[in-house]
Amino acid sequence: MKIMGINKILTAILLVCLSACILFAGCTGNTNGNEQTQQQTLQPTQQQTQTDTAAADERITVAASILPQKEIIESVGKDKVKVSILVPPGFSPHTYELTSGQLRSIADTDLFVSMGSGIEFELAWMDKIKGVNPNMPIVNASEGITFIDGYTEEDGTHVSGGDPHVWLSIANAKIMAENVCKALAKESPKDEAYFKANLEEYKAKLDALDGEIRESFTDMKNVTIMTYHPAWSYFVRDYGIECISVENNGKEPSPSDLAALIDTAKAKGIKVIFASPEYSTKSAYTIADAIGGSVVLIDPLSENYIDNMKSVAEAFKSAVAQN
Ligand SMILES: [Zn+2]
Repeated sequence: MKIMGINKILTAILLVCLSACILFAGCTGNTNGNEQTQQQTLQPTQQQTQTDTAAADERITVAASILPQKEIIESVGKDKVKVSILVPPGFSPHTYELTSGQLRSIADTDLFVSMGSGIEFELAWMDKIKGVNPNMPIVNASEGITFIDGYTEEDGTHVSGGDPHVWLSIANAKIMAENVCKALAKESPKDEAYFKANLEEYKAKLDALDGEIRESFTDMKNVTIMTYHPAWSYFVRDYGIECISVENNGKEPSPSDLAALIDTAKAKGIKVIFASPEYSTKSAYTIADAIGGSVVLIDPLSENYIDNMKSVAEAFKSAVAQN
């Protein structure tokens, strides 16, 4: 009886081993089955990782259109926001097309800060952005800003509401920061005091910069600068400068336009033509050659807002000093 028992156990063990071997051979023999097994075991791990990241990262995910918005949103939200900008460096918000990957990423975004100033990127894509995340609040960064009218866009059509380059005024950047602050406080009411303190801190920096520029521009009244793309209307309005743009309704100027621009530049003693990294510099160089001047690049879309505004002001001042 005792021996019979052991034999039975041994047989049972052997049977288990055999079936395990057959099962294993079956799995490795079937590639599809193997992939499926791997996917099934990977899935829970991936889900676990996603849950862990979400728990560790409680930041508000904010998407916005253009790079100058980044510093403004981050200055108000600081470590409580994670900002992604849709129009990448080197691209124009007048023409940029959203990628399908970017559109998908908006589905996981908590808040969208639109420029709201009529830039074509938003006019073309806002419906699709809303479509992938219908519950996402969309704040208009330009709410409360007074627009400069009479702006004609790239395709020659007049944009109702005026010039979309509102962010290039320090006074407007303060309004944009206030709108961001309100939206973040709505998104996370417990952090309202934190956002408000950050807003005041950032507005103080903007005020200091504005004061610095005003001081250095005291001898810049009634001067004229020439820029390729008509982005700086708000900036020059704030400081009482005149600006002539080379681009004609979003197009390269015609030969007769160029001749007229060269005459104007000579008459006004202009020595520097400003161009931007995002746009053609060809006609800027043509004019500069004709007047014996130079081309200087300034960026209306830098992500370092305060530093950039400071260096643009310095570039304008030194250009006028050469007149
Ligand atoms: Zn522009």
